[in-house]
Amino acid sequence: MSTTVQPANNTAPALRVRLRGIAGHQLTATCPTWCTDDHAEDVAHGVHAEDFAHRGEESALMVPSSFGTNDEQLLVQIHQYPFGRDLREPTAVLWPTLGTGENHLGPNGLIDLAEQLRKYADELEHIAAQVHDARKEHADTNASEGWGTSKGDAR
Ligand SMILES: [Zn+2]
Repeated sequence: MSTTVQPANNTAPALRVRLRGIAGHQLTATCPTWCTDDHAEDVAHGVHAEDFAHRGEESALMVPSSFGTNDEQLLVQIHQYPFGRDLREPTAVLWPTLGTGENHLGPNGLIDLAEQLRKYADELEHIAAQVHDARKEHADTNASEGWGTSKGDAR
């Protein structure tokens, strides 16, 4: 018998993932509309409930390097850990990657960097709107996920 509660109005198929460390239990989750993770790793290997996360698209600030390449300097991605200790609500997570080292830019490189920063600022505003919408969706379907026992899935 499952303890999972599903929202009546959600047509997305529920994801069932084996819980690590608790034999015979599985986690049931329905991805929010913004989640782009296929959860293939979770399904293949199981997951600890607190580590299960929904993830949105990644966005990176690309900065030209003195080697003629573009380096990722700052990554942002919406995360939600519905059973975690933190980030239970959709939140934009930022990782400074700081590229491969010191960069040397002339006037054209600086102008390119300014253009990248303007584009990235636009992306951040777009992600802010996504986080706003994701939190509204989360509030509307707060009882949509749960975990409990599942007969026949005791791997
Ligand atoms: Zn998901």
